Amino acid sequence: MLRLDSLGQWYGDHPVHAVHPAHSVLRDISLTVPDGQLVCVVGPSGCGKSTLLRTIAGLLPTREGAVILDGHPVTGVPDRLAVVFQDYGRSLFPWLSVRENVALPLRRRGMGRAERRDEAERMLERVGLGGAGRRHPWQLSGGMQQRVAIARALVCRPSLLLMDEPFGSLDAQTREDLEDLLLEVHRTEGTTIVFVTHDIDESVYVGDRVVVLSAGPGSRVVLDLPVDLPGKRDQIGTRGLPEFVALRAEVGRAVRA
Ligand code: ADP
Ligand code: MG
Repeated sequence: MLRLDSLGQWYGDHPVHAVHPAHSVLRDISLTVPDGQLVCVVGPSGCGKSTLLRTIAGLLPTREGAVILDGHPVTGVPDRLAVVFQDYGRSLFPWLSVRENVALPLRRRGMGRAERRDEAERMLERVGLGGAGRRHPWQLSGGMQQRVAIARALVCRPSLLLMDEPFGSLDAQTREDLEDLLLEVHRTEGTTIVFVTHDIDESVYVGDRVVVLSAGPGSRVVLDLPVDLPGKRDQIGTRGLPEFVALRAEVGRAVRA
């Protein structure tokens, strides 16, 4: 379980008592994410979504409050944490094959060569890239590269996956395909996922829950909405449901407020 406890965050070296409200990025964020939930975090550009993810990932020290993962305060990058960024072009190593990129995190697990290779191939199969293992990232389309990044993130079976606008630079069709891939992976692997996006439709489509942050400085949670949609999600049917339209409107109002 992931818990944010009155989290406050800012950049610079101001001590707690001296931080000017105009310099605060996040203010008093409290949130509990149960195991296996896919929670979307939405908010206007610059409100602190990436800052929030970097804090959860242990890449930024907590300035106020705490991030608690499985009962322990996060003080460095937690074991069993994986992150997928928007910029797939810079997240893969161009000199390694696709399979080597995916297998890389398994080295630190002390896994033998053959086993690493099998695990990487299995994961590539999972993301629809069976057969692409010997190619290099630069030989693949943007959507395929992001699939590789997802495979690499999942290969160690993380208990927490953080995604920062992962489909933001993909074309509409590829983006829908990857949203469905994510839902499929989430359904079968049961990973807890914090998914950041500024796309309101996407947040309602992929999320079990949508959390909206207000515009900065000092963003707070302004809406925390469970997403209860009937049936298995699909791009055409789900987006046309009256329930979907109502949820999207509610999130939209909160983002614009
Ligand atoms: P979002 O991801 O929602 O667009 P960010 O978390 O990137 O927002 O940024 C939130 C605020 O923090 C912005 O005002 C941004 O300018 C500021 N900021 C982000 N990164 C840094 C940094 N490394 N140093 C100083 N200020 C930063
Ligand atoms: Mg960002």
